[in-house]
Amino acid sequence: MTDILSKQNQDNLVAKEENLINWNEVLEKFKKTFGNDIYESWIKNVKIKKEFNHYVVLSVPTRFVRDWIVSRYADKILDVIKTSKQSIQRLEFLIQETQEKSDLLIHTAKNKITAIENSLLNYYRFSPNNRFDNFVVGESNELAYTAARKICVQSAHYNPLFIYSSVGMGKTHLLNSIGLEVGDTKKVMFISAERFMYHFVRALKNNEMVKFKDFFRGANIFIIDDIQFVNGKEAMQEEFFHTFNALIERGSQVVISSDRPPSSLDKIQERIRSRMAGGLVIDIQPPDSDLRIRILKSKFEEIKMNFKENYDLNEEVFKFLASEITSSIREMVGALNRILAFSKINTKSPTIYECKRILKDFINSNNKSINVEFIQNLVASHFNLNIQELLSPRRSRSLARPRQIAMYLAKQHTTNSLPDIGRKFSNRDHTTVIHAVKKIDELLKKDNDIRESVAALKKKLL
Ligand code: ADP
Ligand code: MG
Repeated sequence: MTDILSKQNQDNLVAKEENLINWNEVLEKFKKTFGNDIYESWIKNVKIKKEFNHYVVLSVPTRFVRDWIVSRYADKILDVIKTSKQSIQRLEFLIQETQEKSDLLIHTAKNKITAIENSLLNYYRFSPNNRFDNFVVGESNELAYTAARKICVQSAHYNPLFIYSSVGMGKTHLLNSIGLEVGDTKKVMFISAERFMYHFVRALKNNEMVKFKDFFRGANIFIIDDIQFVNGKEAMQEEFFHTFNALIERGSQVVISSDRPPSSLDKIQERIRSRMAGGLVIDIQPPDSDLRIRILKSKFEEIKMNFKENYDLNEEVFKFLASEITSSIREMVGALNRILAFSKINTKSPTIYECKRILKDFINSNNKSINVEFIQNLVASHFNLNIQELLSPRRSRSLARPRQIAMYLAKQHTTNSLPDIGRKFSNRDHTTVIHAVKKIDELLKKDNDIRESVAALKKKLL
């Protein structure tokens, strides 16, 4: 009889029985969900204190951090925790001041390095991978590229330079390129707005505001990434505004990136917004398919060179990637990497069918959870039908058209095979699906109603 269990076994047992949350696992998920910057700045120090059936008690180091997290990240935090324990419905926060002085202040008589400088040093090291010479230029990003280059030659030509685009379109790449280009000759600071705020708070807490100000105001080129994260908090906006003005007054170049134009930064004070819009404002548009293919090929060559490998990819594969993964360049490059891992192992270029398989979860996660059933439901409700009608054998046009549209969308937006799609429509043959796809393709060219319906459905789908 082994009635004496080791401590670890007991813990495991308890964990199983009470479904205790594995916090390290949750932290990993946070990192994925929020990205490194937000994670490092705000989320990392959240600890789990108590766990109940329907809620958890989390501890955070300060009131400020709590307010910050609650106002911005609470929903997502809850979502992530729910993936580990379904029954959790709310969060409670506890403020537990921690003694983080030791890692904050390195302030001996001789050693005058302050925490600010010390920890910031890590944040404007430029990545050697994102340079001007490997930024592929096309119609959609040409202006941003040219403006960024100009700044390196002639500072304060337009000040500030404000670049915006949706995520993964190359903003950080361009900002980083500026740093690499002039980092040796000028004092360049490159920091994300999240980090800026984090240091602001720390400085405030440690009475280091004077240092903080001096530090940032000493830049010749001040680059701040993802400004949309500066919002709320009057004191911080105040500080940001003054830093910003001080820099511009002394002729330093300011470069800002954002996911939206200045006018849409509605959490930011009006005077800051108008100051930001007062220089040159440029957007990067999503790349067209030609530029997407060129970027893929350029990345491909780079990877080949870095790893001194000699594999090849069929032209078709580039086209497939460029047409399938359009949400962001980052996603597209990520997909390319996966394909390359495959061709390395199999020493051949994958077929399109294999590409679909390799990227299955990629494409799916990209498109949330689009599957055939989801599409059927969407189409049925769009046309005011119930799902039985949509799947029924009846062939009246009022049912057949929506059904064909659903098949068409299923073919386009899922990785299911034609026979598979047929099966999911009450065991229809795959030739019926082919016919439906053809029919809708034709109608899209000449029938306005169909075109509008399909466009509306696609919008809902993506
Ligand atoms: P953002 O900051 O706009 O979210 P990033 O600068 O992080 O986007 O770009 C995402 C990825 O796409 C990076 O790997 C970057 O190198 C790449 N990328 C974006 N645009 C280009 C381009 N025009 N040429 C080459 N690579 C690009
Ligand atoms: Mg970025």
